[in-house]
Amino acid sequence: MRVLLVEDEPKVSRFVARGLAAERFAVDVANDGKSGLEMANTYDYDLVILDLMLPVMDGTEVLRRIRGKDSDVPILILTARDAVSDKVGNFEAGADDYLTKPFAFAELLVRVKALLRRGSVNRSSSVRVEDLELDRLSQQVRRAGKRIDLTLKEYSLLEYLMSNAGRVLSRTMIIEHVWDQSFDGITNIVDVYVRHLRDKVDDAHEHKLIKTVRGVGYAISGAEQS
Ligand code: CA
Repeated sequence: MRVLLVEDEPKVSRFVARGLAAERFAVDVANDGKSGLEMANTYDYDLVILDLMLPVMDGTEVLRRIRGKDSDVPILILTARDAVSDKVGNFEAGADDYLTKPFAFAELLVRVKALLRRGSVNRSSSVRVEDLELDRLSQQVRRAGKRIDLTLKEYSLLEYLMSNAGRVLSRTMIIEHVWDQSFDGITNIVDVYVRHLRDKVDDAHEHKLIKTVRGVGYAISGAEQS
């Protein structure tokens, strides 16, 4: 899951980014409204957390412009402005949720998870490819009923592959989704992580689920999906 955080206050963005990273999200941070809008238009985010009082372009304008592009990415407003008129105005401009500062991280997290659950039809709480099952709420992975322990990045990579089962994903798409912008681009990082995943997911099984598509990237697929 890839989250864009648009927040100009370093203390707040560090706090939120660190907390979300610990929950296995890939987090990009924009420090002003204009760069936040550019990133939202460039990358495929699962969720945007948006401050309102921002340099260069204010949050409500960012929100309007994202919605103006017909994007339905879930957007959570995180702001010190607690007037009812601010809340109403931003919901009318297309916000999905609104949380006022100061806030507890635990509350932000449950709201983020609720938005992601609502977000899209294939965002159900678990995803299955043949006998491989991933539970997004408990973040547990099992194959043939047997628990598989994954690192943070391995889990994110598998979750991305399984959410797009049957689709070929390029290395660039995988890097954009699973790694955040702090990633400085070792070109074979995806291959390295896919190898780790294969060791854990496929090695013990005769039927391999993770497929290499030469010159393109990777896919996960099985005979049946649900
Ligand atoms: Ca601010």
